[in-house]
Amino acid sequence: MRPILATISLAALRHNLAVVKKYAPSAKIMAVVKANGYGHGLIDVAQGLNTADGFAVLGLNEAIDLREAGFEQTVLLLEGVFNAEELSVAASFAIDVVVHSVPQIEMLERAHLAKPVCVHLKINTGMNRLGFTPSDFLKALSRLDACKNVATITLMTHFATADEDVGIASALQTFQNTTHGVHYPVSLANSAAILRYPESHTNIANNSWVRPGIMLYGASPIGGLPAAQFELKPVMQLTSEIISVQILQAGESVGYGNRFTATKTTRVGIVACGYADGYPRHAGQDAFNVESVAKNQYDTPIVVANKMTRTLGRVSMDMLFCDLTEIPEANIGAPVELWGNHVSVDVVAETAGTVGYELLCAVSKRVPFKVIY
Ligand SMILES: *Cc1c(COP(=O)(O)O)cnc(C)c1O
Repeated sequence: MRPILATISLAALRHNLAVVKKYAPSAKIMAVVKANGYGHGLIDVAQGLNTADGFAVLGLNEAIDLREAGFEQTVLLLEGVFNAEELSVAASFAIDVVVHSVPQIEMLERAHLAKPVCVHLKINTGMNRLGFTPSDFLKALSRLDACKNVATITLMTHFATADEDVGIASALQTFQNTTHGVHYPVSLANSAAILRYPESHTNIANNSWVRPGIMLYGASPIGGLPAAQFELKPVMQLTSEIISVQILQAGESVGYGNRFTATKTTRVGIVACGYADGYPRHAGQDAFNVESVAKNQYDTPIVVANKMTRTLGRVSMDMLFCDLTEIPEANIGAPVELWGNHVSVDVVAETAGTVGYELLCAVSKRVPFKVIY
């Protein structure tokens, strides 16, 4: 079998959930497990996080999968339902729904549901993606409040800049002004806000929520701040092996486009992992301009036989290349860590001009997964 493997640690998930609890002790935890548990496997992740108070997903199918796997806590559809039939099904499975638009309120008003649903009324505080504007909020709230198909209401917003220097002050102020004088549980903080802005999850009404995603998987929500700084542990180890070794003489190159040319005798390891597995093609020497490539800057770290080294050249569909010159003991079969405990997925992402979120979600179907408990 091709040696690539994604190993998922449920112990790391439990540890990271405890970190969320430490930062946000007074809130209920809605573990965000959308996108197949950020690429880690929905049901396995939910198993690891089974002491969370709720799970948030996008699709009704994912929500039903959680119910059918036996999870009884809150399950929330982050974009709500897309039609009346979905609303009936959601109600029959006791799935909570976000309400962010007038058509979704109309569906609730017209529906005949098995039982009323819990709604999370979304307010737009500056992201300008989903949600009611501050001026439309009270009207929406009073319609939901009067609706017989609504069991409970939670007031929700999503911060556009919790991970940026400007922070959440303005959005939080907008939220507080908008909801002044009405008393409901709230749901505000994503990972970045949980870690950086206690004011988004302290002194909030009973039964209020935080919505951590990326931090549960042990990656950082904030560029430049390593996850380890928050004592988060990576949940996924993406590993493979060396499947060939080549010796380049000075002037010889490796891979498509000859993007790496040796300046001295160089031992190159060929790793069974490429962009079709989800490793970013734009990592390292393909990401930046020709001058930085010429200087061999922005190499991506990679661990071979427990030693840190760097990738070389252009990532191909099924393989990538690394420098074994200083690791003479590494031969065919030597173990490789693409990301995990020694190489943060955030660092690989950074050299590819993206974020850990994208890489974790993009590990492809052909990569086998193994769960450790
Ligand atoms: C994805 C998402 C989250 C989680 O965000 P992280 O940055 O991964 O913590 C929280 N709330 C909403 C509405 C989301 O879409």
